[in-house]
Amino acid sequence: MLKTIAGFDRIGEENAFAVLARATELAAQGKDIINLGIGQPDFQTPDHIVEAAIKALRDGHHGYTPATGILPLREAVAADLHKRLNVETNPDNIVIVPGGKVTMFMAILMFGEPGAEIIYPDPGFPIYRSMIEFTGATPVPLPIREENEFAFSADEALGLISDRTTLMILNSPANPTGGVTPREEIEKLVKGLEHHHDLAILSDEIYSQMTYDGMEHVSLLSYESLRDRLILLDGWSKTYAMTGWRMGYSLWPDALIDKARKLAVNSWSCVNAPAQYAGLAALEGPQDAVTHMLEKFDERRKLVVSSLNEISGFSCRTPKGAFYAFPNIKKTGWKAKELASALLEETGVATIGGPDFGILGEGYLRLSYANSAENIKRAVTRVSDFIDDNKKA
Ligand code: PLP
Repeated sequence: MLKTIAGFDRIGEENAFAVLARATELAAQGKDIINLGIGQPDFQTPDHIVEAAIKALRDGHHGYTPATGILPLREAVAADLHKRLNVETNPDNIVIVPGGKVTMFMAILMFGEPGAEIIYPDPGFPIYRSMIEFTGATPVPLPIREENEFAFSADEALGLISDRTTLMILNSPANPTGGVTPREEIEKLVKGLEHHHDLAILSDEIYSQMTYDGMEHVSLLSYESLRDRLILLDGWSKTYAMTGWRMGYSLWPDALIDKARKLAVNSWSCVNAPAQYAGLAALEGPQDAVTHMLEKFDERRKLVVSSLNEISGFSCRTPKGAFYAFPNIKKTGWKAKELASALLEETGVATIGGPDFGILGEGYLRLSYANSAENIKRAVTRVSDFIDDNKKA
């Protein structure tokens, strides 16, 4: 018997990938599947970005790059942060990583060990808890509540800090709820964090450019008082429809940047060179494809919310960010994961049960509306008919 370290008995998964695999299998059997499960834009990566990668290959960019990424790309990230957030950053504090997820992997590895506590949002991206458990640290869930429009509460977050807390993970705009935490709440949190100098903060801002109804994205990077302990996670996957390119970036404080670089050297060496040139074209090129995508997401958001609210037993708040709806299904009498599974098997509609994002996700489904309006309409009709035919309550 091979005996691996105990962490592997605790490591979790991202069930969205299991649902994607099952949906693909059913589609291969000829079933008509509508995928509202996996969180990725249904748009193609814009042409000029694809062309930049092809050109990079033709120009001979086939070799290793610096472990933290090519300098022009790190400079472009710094310029983009300046343009969007009006914040000065040093390209030397930026690491290009193979996907946004890698930043959380690195940060949790840096701060997780038995005896440490790590605060993370629940419901939230499942890999936070999975990796915390892997390291042996104690996961401390920060409840994300529907009655608070799925924003996090600064008081609650601050109240969870103990002298063992090493890292606090925050995510706005959020997966799986679409919640966006407003400025007043963020400012309250930042004020409170000023009393906790030894606490690292991981701010997952992968949906930073996806907000609606005039809701602003407030980056934790805007607060000077956090700069010596803030790790920023962002990337190209969602904004530029580049999930399969595996392109993300993180910004590290001076105290951590060399550790982050060493982790890169010890694992992936550097991100795929042509993908880095594609990332550069994405940041420096025209942004109209991003605007177009957001307009489409906004239309679909309105459509998905209004149609979900017509389903008996469903009630859905209007999400202000990302591309997820998180309807409350408690009144249907169904358990969320059972319902998600029945919907996929019986109706061909892929969704994710709320408990895949944490204990507080029970009673909710996550639907990604990164799909065509026509498919959203067809999917919601199927869900509605299924609920009418399979009453539990
Ligand atoms: N953070 C959040 C909140 C996400 O929802 C996702 C992807 O779904 C990621 C990070 C990871 O993004 P990437 O695909 O770039 O690894």
